[in-house]
Amino acid sequence: MGPFLMRKQFLMISDNLKQVNSRIDSIQSDQNVQLIAVSKTRSVSEIQEAFDSGQKHFGENYLQESLEKVRHFKGSGLVWHFIGPIQSNKTASIAENFDWVHSVDRVKIAKRMSDQRNPNLGKLNILVQVNVDKEETKSGVLIEQVDEIVSEIMSLPHICLRGFMCIPKPENSSDSFSVMKKLISKYPSLDTLSMGMSSDLEIAIENGANLVRVGTDIFGQRSYN
Ligand SMILES: *Cc1c(COP(=O)(O)O)cnc(C)c1O
Repeated sequence: MGPFLMRKQFLMISDNLKQVNSRIDSIQSDQNVQLIAVSKTRSVSEIQEAFDSGQKHFGENYLQESLEKVRHFKGSGLVWHFIGPIQSNKTASIAENFDWVHSVDRVKIAKRMSDQRNPNLGKLNILVQVNVDKEETKSGVLIEQVDEIVSEIMSLPHICLRGFMCIPKPENSSDSFSVMKKLISKYPSLDTLSMGMSSDLEIAIENGANLVRVGTDIFGQRSYN
């Protein structure tokens, strides 16, 4: 890629970030909202461009692909969120390289990460993924299982349970977001709802989201998911 194209792409990512941030700012809400740039399939140089434009939080779905990027930026002040499916034989690497994990849906996974987290890094922030629309193809716990998993995870020493994450059906995300808002209000010690993507971040923020996960509207269309 020549210098002209690099420059053009830089302007695109930085302009896109400005737009997404102004969409976030345009929504009246009581909570602070943190934008996570979902950088799956994206290169180190694209992440660098977003970082140079002021973006600090990044989300990755695939461990193998993410490690190279996380290591590249070690010590630069980026905050990494793991948002993809978790295999139990990969928990050590996730616990070591990430600051947040959004996709915990089994106590066993949380226990392993608590055991494997280096205490010098501070506690690992955890969100329980909720399968809010009861979709067979999606991971996450059902609403009626939340109470049990919350109480078991809360007792683990090296992780800090912060709240919930969901990926609702796009067609009724508004209803699903409001179910999540009600759910978290039952747990006064939890303070974080991760919900809302490129297409529905406004509705998510209206329903209490404080972490929104945006990929496409920052980096452009992906060639795979
Ligand atoms: C890919 C992905 C996103 C970002 O989706 P966009 O529609 O590209 O904004 C958010 N959350 C999760 C869990 C994802 O896998």
